[in-house]
Amino acid sequence: MKVFMHCDMEGASGIYSAEQVRCAQGRDLLIADVNSAAMAALEAGVDQLIVCDTHAGGGNFILDRMLQDPRITWLPRSRGEQNGKLRWMPGLNETVAGFMLLGHHAMAGTKGAFLPHTETGRWADFQINGQSMGEMGLEACFAGHWDVPVCLAQGDEAACREAEAMFPGIVTACVKRAIARDACSGPDPEQARKLTGRKVAQAVEALRAGRCRPFKPQLPMTVTIRMVKTESAEEAGQRPNVQRVDDCTVQCTVERRCDVLKWLTGAGLP
Ligand SMILES: [Zn+2]
Repeated sequence: MKVFMHCDMEGASGIYSAEQVRCAQGRDLLIADVNSAAMAALEAGVDQLIVCDTHAGGGNFILDRMLQDPRITWLPRSRGEQNGKLRWMPGLNETVAGFMLLGHHAMAGTKGAFLPHTETGRWADFQINGQSMGEMGLEACFAGHWDVPVCLAQGDEAACREAEAMFPGIVTACVKRAIARDACSGPDPEQARKLTGRKVAQAVEALRAGRCRPFKPQLPMTVTIRMVKTESAEEAGQRPNVQRVDDCTVQCTVERRCDVLKWLTGAGLP
């Protein structure tokens, strides 16, 4: 069974302040967390594992500190080369049995969430076919292009509730709860990693039992972004096939789920 783990940082075990996300301590906690989740996946029977660093586009994994195992492919950035071309999430295709969202956070504007945002602080609301969602939704939509089911989300309580509402059958690992927008509390990192490991094993079990579904918004998809500032909408509105809906909002219609963001950021397939 081949699994793709997409790892952000804000929702990782033991990261309890915005400060930690910006410093070396956050990176250390992220590395410990993904190593432990990767180990849990292998122990649960995953025999090919791709682990991708997506926080700020990547650059947080230190390769010689990552679990060394021939079954694991470490992707240091969320964009990488495949067949001589750059693409988003190299290796994610129809041979992948499950998609795991580690270290994730709730969408922009979520109340009671730790560091909620979607992609950048410039986006106020992101929608597919009129449904607001965050990074978990748009990443799962990309995976949905190949019918890859979403089986696990790890993060704060708000991120887990968001995932459960969007992806029926998903297993969630709730490792913290916000006490302010930039602070949260939860078990010590070791406990949180143990919990995550158990949830990874449950997610693998859920995949085997066929309880998880790919996220497949209806095609063609209308993708809408309300920006915080007019200037961002102005700029995005210059791109090909992008409609300006109002002062702050742009929209594009796409024919494939893998093109969910390509029209705006270029991220997707070549
Ligand atoms: Zn992040």
